[in-house]
Amino acid sequence: RERAELAAARAPCLSLDGVAIRVLANISSLEEAERAAARGAEGCGLLRSEFLYLDRRQAPDESTQKREYLAFAKALGELPLTIRTLDAGGDKPIAYLPLPAEDNPALGLRGVRTGLRHPDILNTQLRALLELKRAEQIRILIPMVNDPDELSQIRDRLDALAGEIGLEQQPALGVMIETPASALLAAELLREADFLSIGSNDLSQYVLAMDRGHAELAARLDGLHPAVLRLMAEVARAGAEAGKKVSLCGGLAADPQALPILLGLGLRELSVVVSAVPRLKAQVRRLALADCEALARQALAKSSAHQVRELLRHWQPSTL
Ligand code: PEP
Ligand code: MG
Repeated sequence: RERAELAAARAPCLSLDGVAIRVLANISSLEEAERAAARGAEGCGLLRSEFLYLDRRQAPDESTQKREYLAFAKALGELPLTIRTLDAGGDKPIAYLPLPAEDNPALGLRGVRTGLRHPDILNTQLRALLELKRAEQIRILIPMVNDPDELSQIRDRLDALAGEIGLEQQPALGVMIETPASALLAAELLREADFLSIGSNDLSQYVLAMDRGHAELAARLDGLHPAVLRLMAEVARAGAEAGKKVSLCGGLAADPQALPILLGLGLRELSVVVSAVPRLKAQVRRLALADCEALARQALAKSSAHQVRELLRHWQPSTL
């Protein structure tokens, strides 16, 4: 019986009307990587590389990073592994990284801004990623990018490092969509980026101007707010037009209520906590995309997250 369950978990994930939806896992430990593969995740959509840096007094050197990333790659077999570069700053302070005290850390030096300010740390990480020489399997993801200029600086660095190493094929390079600016410039970012990944946690925080760590506002910080949905719809559309992948790796992807809307907006790749993978795949298989698209159109026309949640409460998908 266990073997049958495993086979079911690993089966490809098609919607009721036959469209392939890729379900990946967010992972932060080797144990989770192994569990993700066993539970039917089709790879890792987000490895938050902060885990490597958090408890250290010194930055991990290139060989340490290479060894760690390689272990993750092996734990996933041949499955894709998306490694996000250090997302330091904001709600993720790093002990040895001297960042100035800020009145608004969420609006300060974080993600790619921190990386570009500390090129030594960024270069070491990019070099370790290239040195893995697993361009087929590895995808490099850059956090908190606002516009194509920032991305070009990363691309230039990667090109220079690849030249030094004598590397012919580079891993795919992607951008997190976490700010309104990046969502509005998705098409422009896709001229340079190979894929996009929507970080709905930060995107919601910055669109709604509500701190993601604020206990009292937590219930109102909802990624199904129509303002967030409209931006995500634009990002998905830009991806379809460019013929490039757009995934969603924020917490919203694991919200069972949200799934039909996310598919209806055109998202075809979701990355969620490992425990949610089997349920999400089972849920996808019961949904027809035509229904989801009609639902998403209605949701986009609403004027509050509450209205969208009400719409979902009364929604009855037709069955084929
Ligand atoms: C996000 O912002 O949605 C995201 C996935 O990144 P993190 O939660 O690590 O900020
Ligand atoms: Mg984020």
